[in-house]
Amino acid sequence: MIETDVFIAGAGLAGSIAALSYSKAGRNVIIADPFTHSDNTKLDYRTTAYLQPSKLFLETLGVWETIEDFAMPLEVMKIIDSSGTQEGDKIKSQKEFKSAEVSDLPFGWNVKNSLMRKALKHLIDCQINCELMNGTSAVDFVSRDSVAYVKLSSGNTVKAKLVIAADGRNSILREKAGISIKTHRFGQKALAFAVTHSIPHKNISTEIHNSGGPFTLVPLPDYEGTPSSAIVWMENGEKAKKLMEMEIKKFEIEMTIRSCNILGPLKLVSNRSLWPIISQIADRIYSQRLALIGETAHVVPPIGAQGLNMSLADIKFLSDLDKKYPDELGTTYALDQYQKSRISDIRKRVIGVSTLNQISISGNKAVQNIRAFGLENLFQIASIKNNAMKLGLGYR
Ligand SMILES: Cc1cc2nc3c(=O)[nH]c(=O)nc-3n(C[C@H](O)[C@H](O)[C@H](O)COP(=O)(O)OP(=O)(O)OC[C@H]3O[C@@H](n4cnc5c(N)ncnc54)[C@H](O)[C@@H]3O)c2cc1C
Repeated sequence: MIETDVFIAGAGLAGSIAALSYSKAGRNVIIADPFTHSDNTKLDYRTTAYLQPSKLFLETLGVWETIEDFAMPLEVMKIIDSSGTQEGDKIKSQKEFKSAEVSDLPFGWNVKNSLMRKALKHLIDCQINCELMNGTSAVDFVSRDSVAYVKLSSGNTVKAKLVIAADGRNSILREKAGISIKTHRFGQKALAFAVTHSIPHKNISTEIHNSGGPFTLVPLPDYEGTPSSAIVWMENGEKAKKLMEMEIKKFEIEMTIRSCNILGPLKLVSNRSLWPIISQIADRIYSQRLALIGETAHVVPPIGAQGLNMSLADIKFLSDLDKKYPDELGTTYALDQYQKSRISDIRKRVIGVSTLNQISISGNKAVQNIRAFGLENLFQIASIKNNAMKLGLGYR
């Protein structure tokens, strides 16, 4: 039997950041994941736009200073509607939102997940009170009033005051704790990859709506001296699969058309990865001695950079709670506060992002016109526009 203060299942971005946060605060932490660090890094070609509150939190953990030279500020968000145009390659309407209208800082900073994973692994390795067990899964969970026990695939059992389930959208720990989930499948998939282009992005993140879902270009630092962006291309499942398998030259032509050619011809400079799009929310985000964070608690379509940013808000809340009530680690009193304080923000964002995605999928002319009309008119009203922008920035 191994004893610790905090056991974390899952060393994805959420679990790793939680491990660092608790261990930096002086807690003994064990974190386990069935994959090795390099497996995970190789498979993830996504980037994450860290919004202002997330950047501040990562600064306090000493993470930001290790990646900031590679973080690309996002100063303008552009939304383009290209639906109903002949080839889908012409701009029907567009709107720009400048972060300077609501803040002195950029909307967010875009960082490659592979880079963040490397930085977190290094920082965890430097913590003497944090042990990372690779190649090890959590397979069972039992809780008592004062502790919980987690059985590992290695045959060992860990006894901890607090167990954190960060084992992803199909979480075993969530299931063992009897917490049910509500899932909505959109029938879509997202391709994620990196490109280079001849026209500089000028720190503008652009979301192009047609049908099937948004096509989003997010600025990256130059790649081998050429302007570069990350792309998330959402489409219905079958079309996405075809795009995934398409010969590269043909794929480059297709994506340049879908981008309305705003940055010139796009050249693929990474592998393509494919992600199923769902929204999902756990009925509750804790049970006795167990807290759910990250995609174990909530999954949203990749629109408006909400997914991991919500997870960082979960982790920050739990860490602040531990600082405020150090004798209450893992107690029902503390975890009940986590539920009460986080759940309404989580529900609001899951519903909001899912609705935006539903509108964005529609190939229906009437819905497309409402979308264009809504964008045009909603954002004429300064107070609505500013509040929407602040919510999008991750503020509650
Ligand atoms: C295309 C795309 C773009 C995105 N862009 C953004 C963005 O710009 N901004 C943003 O905020 N969010 C974004 N997101 C969302 C974000 O990527 C996810 O929220 C985040 O990666 C999920 O991290 P996680 O640690 O919660 O889950 P995961 O990454 O799924 O990690 C779960 C971990 O648990 C491990 N595991 C599984 N089972 C067990 C077990 N039994 N025991 C122990 N470990 C286990 C897995 O191996 C895995 O490492 C995007 C998502 C997609 C699909």
